[in-house]
Amino acid sequence: MRDILLFVVLLTALMIGWWLGRRGSTKRGRRIEQQGTVTLSRDYFVGLNFLLTEQPDRAIETFVQALEVNSETIDTHITLGNLFRSRGEADRAVKIHQNLLARPALSSRQSDQVQLELARDFMRLGVLDRAEGLLDSLIKRCHDEQILNAARRLLIELFEQEKEWQAALDVASTQRLRDDPPLQRAAANWLCELALEEFERGHIASGQKKLKQALSTCPSSVRSHWIQAERFHALGRYRDEIKALSKIPQQDREFSPIILERLGRSYDMLDDEPGLLAHLDRALEQTPSISALLMRAQRGLPREGLEATAKKLSERLERFPNLRGVVYLAALDVERIDPQHQAERLLMQTLHHHLERLVQRDPRFVCRHCGFQIERLYWHCPQCHDWETIKPIDEFPPRSEAPHAAH
Ligand SMILES: [Zn+2]
Repeated sequence: MRDILLFVVLLTALMIGWWLGRRGSTKRGRRIEQQGTVTLSRDYFVGLNFLLTEQPDRAIETFVQALEVNSETIDTHITLGNLFRSRGEADRAVKIHQNLLARPALSSRQSDQVQLELARDFMRLGVLDRAEGLLDSLIKRCHDEQILNAARRLLIELFEQEKEWQAALDVASTQRLRDDPPLQRAAANWLCELALEEFERGHIASGQKKLKQALSTCPSSVRSHWIQAERFHALGRYRDEIKALSKIPQQDREFSPIILERLGRSYDMLDDEPGLLAHLDRALEQTPSISALLMRAQRGLPREGLEATAKKLSERLERFPNLRGVVYLAALDVERIDPQHQAERLLMQTLHHHLERLVQRDPRFVCRHCGFQIERLYWHCPQCHDWETIKPIDEFPPRSEAPHAAH
């Protein structure tokens, strides 16, 4: 599809070039017109011949050579370079954009636009220092708000790739942060990264300061609360850890399954099993999820017994059918069968084994922005580079039904 688009752009550009050349030459005289037409036609037919003999690379080279650069075709050249980049041929895009930059016909806006595209080409090639240099000079001199913003975003992306978190923060100044919630979330995550670096170096006070900044930059940042909880755990402040973890489902319900394991760990450290069960009951009322339901069943089992646990779980699954719930119910059933009834027990064990394999095949996390699926939690999506968009795959009862889940 992209190849077809590329050829369409090339052919259109050639036709425009031919028409402009013809129009210009008519004014200058018939003899020149004939020469221009002959030259363009020859290149055009040579390119077309390569295309027809299925040599697209040579066809593209020929068409590009035939394209005349003038003020009317500059946008076409820029698009052409971008198409090469999107096809994974960033080196060709560099050639086209560099060739354009050298032309005096460019207006200052066009020159800025080409420089921006050239920076994108270098980023695609992984030549980050060249891209950074181009973007730095562009940001210093450009007055076009649209190009300026695009250059800043690209520079931020570059600093994120280099893990230069402070530099990214410097580009996203306070004023811009105030007006841009996704940028606020990103900035909170850069501050989290800086805080973690400080903690690793043993600079606790300055790490805490960065974390506090992260929380004030974006109070709804889940990761800031997550790291705060981890810090409390390291200090043995388990009640504070529970409080910090409890803020996460309030910020984003979809993240609620990630806190369960740590929550269990904190209550275990406090030796407070009834506290954990009460917490899970509250969670099932306020932010229910299948993970919370299963944890409640597993943790309540020693106190409430097999029969009661299986009955309660079965009732809930009646309302919210879920494979993970069925797997756990099958595990409970294995335990409920009298060991004397070996054949029955073996059959149930086999069923449980196969069901468990089905569940294990499922990915555990997905990026809600681009759909990227992964086995563990990442705060920065490796595919779309958004922050805090990778969330656990869980099943949540509809909100209107939620109160039933607790009973
Ligand atoms: Zn993504």
